[in-house]
Amino acid sequence: MDKSEIKARIEELSASLRQHNYDYYVLSAPTISDFDFDQSLKELEKLETEHPELAGENSPTKRVGGDITKKFDTVAHEYPMLSLSNSYSREEIVEWENRIHKLSPTTPTYVCELKYDGVAIGIRYEDGKLKEAVTRGDGSKGEVVTTNVRTIKTIPLQIKGDFPAKFEIRGEIFFPLENFNRLNEMREELGEDLYANPRNTASGTLKLHNSAIVAERGLDCYLYGVYGENLAAPSHSEAVKKAGEWGFKIPDPAKNRITTCTSIDEIMTFIDFWDKERSKLPFEIDGIVIKVDNYIQQDDLGFTAKSPRWAIAYKFKAERVETTLNEVTYQVGRTGAITPVANLEPVLLAGTTVKRASLHNADQIAKLNLHEHDSVYVEKGGEIIPKIIGVNEDKRQPDANPVIFINNCPECNTELVRKEGEAKHHCPNFVGCATQIKSRIEHFISRKAMDIDGLGPETIDLLFKQGLIENYADLYLLTFHDIVELERMADKSANNAIKSITDSKNIPFESVLFALGIRFVGETVAKILAKHFKNIDALIAANLEELINVEEIGDKIAQSIILFFESETNRDIIARLKEYGLSFEMIVAEDASDVLANNTFVISGVFEKVSRKELKELIEKNGGKNTGSISAKTSYLVAGENMGPAKLAKATDLGVNIISEDEFLAMIS
Ligand SMILES: [Zn+2]
Repeated sequence: MDKSEIKARIEELSASLRQHNYDYYVLSAPTISDFDFDQSLKELEKLETEHPELAGENSPTKRVGGDITKKFDTVAHEYPMLSLSNSYSREEIVEWENRIHKLSPTTPTYVCELKYDGVAIGIRYEDGKLKEAVTRGDGSKGEVVTTNVRTIKTIPLQIKGDFPAKFEIRGEIFFPLENFNRLNEMREELGEDLYANPRNTASGTLKLHNSAIVAERGLDCYLYGVYGENLAAPSHSEAVKKAGEWGFKIPDPAKNRITTCTSIDEIMTFIDFWDKERSKLPFEIDGIVIKVDNYIQQDDLGFTAKSPRWAIAYKFKAERVETTLNEVTYQVGRTGAITPVANLEPVLLAGTTVKRASLHNADQIAKLNLHEHDSVYVEKGGEIIPKIIGVNEDKRQPDANPVIFINNCPECNTELVRKEGEAKHHCPNFVGCATQIKSRIEHFISRKAMDIDGLGPETIDLLFKQGLIENYADLYLLTFHDIVELERMADKSANNAIKSITDSKNIPFESVLFALGIRFVGETVAKILAKHFKNIDALIAANLEELINVEEIGDKIAQSIILFFESETNRDIIARLKEYGLSFEMIVAEDASDVLANNTFVISGVFEKVSRKELKELIEKNGGKNTGSISAKTSYLVAGENMGPAKLAKATDLGVNIISEDEFLAMIS
């Protein structure tokens, strides 16, 4: 390919990836497989690496992040980024509407929208391209976070249709609850402290220096305001609609997430609806925003020093209740982390009965100045465990004792330790603390680890109590009789459990490594380690420096790995697992080769000897590359029965080699 062909191919790939991004993230209606998407993305990445001068700053490859921002610059907002005046009082909303109504020559139209609980962002576009994204900051100037914002898939890098040459669009970046909870689950698995709420975490994420981490976390964004000259829209609602046509994610009127109305009654109906329904949303909102729709009327109404007169926010009262603290108990996690839990007098909150709330760590208890039998305020947001946000000190008994964090493990009585820089206390009795052992076994058999069915936490507990298992290696010595003799265990379930334990010997090395339950070694880290060291002996032999030299392995993870393998108990367990036949090395496919390296394949039609899936796998295994559509770059079209005539014509046109299934198989044999 000459330079102009490469440029054309980059543009072609970028355009198609942009469209697929939009279909997937904004419309939630993907039209191609993840595999084909990844293939195109990889092809684009490769071309851009080979020809960096042709890589646009808004290329779809920027979505995956990787650029590092050392320091976030501060810039002035072209239009001040004011906050809205807000109120918890319905009366004030009625008064506001009254005032607007009196000042307006005709009945005003209002737009009601959700008030997303996230971080405000202003994004400038020039000639349809994302130019700069700036946080609210102090309202007159904010921080430039463009690199990180580029990784948010619902924000278009290049817009489409009939757009103004220059404009700014504002919206709210937020953490979808599903992604937020997934992040916390991952942190829990790694023994790290949990994030308290989605909003602060979204804000913190936006200021991370490494955009690859931002990309991975999965922030989202709704756009709600367009600023600029020549917008060609007479009103806010029209401008939002236009923004939707340009490719932005805008609230869906069909789901009642935005509405226009002309009376205070309609405004109140919208507020009431969302006050009830907001807990069902996949993200958090903290109120409703009401705006005068017409731009001329907005201009006439103008601003106060702090906020526009043409808009107001109604804020939902946080769902908060007061109840009595019965006692504080302490949970021991898989890695020995101690979490204090407040056991509460049961109380109804946001439709569910709350009996427990997390207290996170010793500092949290001290900060609350928590005393025994205190009357506490409990709040709940989204899917997150309720938390104690304060104490009603007026109700405290004069002789109440402060809650003192425990010094010894509630399970094994070992003295707890708290390492410098860590928020949590830990029980250091890795090999003897029953709770740690049991939760390690539960982790070992979990789906993403050894995937052993049929052994629930109660069964593990029984097996442990009866001395049948003392660690996860003992699972492989269990017999049908051991299990069936446990309470309530049917023959069939016992058989299943035994079969599942045997089957787990085929689980690949990377999952076995994850199953071992080394602190800070989650699924991803286990994969990286397995790939790098190839087998367990090499990993055990690695020193600190060798570990840190592996990409993405930091000091904390490296130290934890060393600590784990230093233990003779752990090394004995691994030796036994090896003996039982678990995989402790990477299996390299025997028939792999690189005979197809640098060749791109398109397959079409139905094949006799292999399935389409097998054919694609064979191509990859031998170093070739699959793509979905024929271009000048395609090396071979593997033609099967009933292949599409359009593909054939295009391949012939472009002079692509057309080969049969047999010819392909001959190439790799
Ligand atoms: Zn313990």
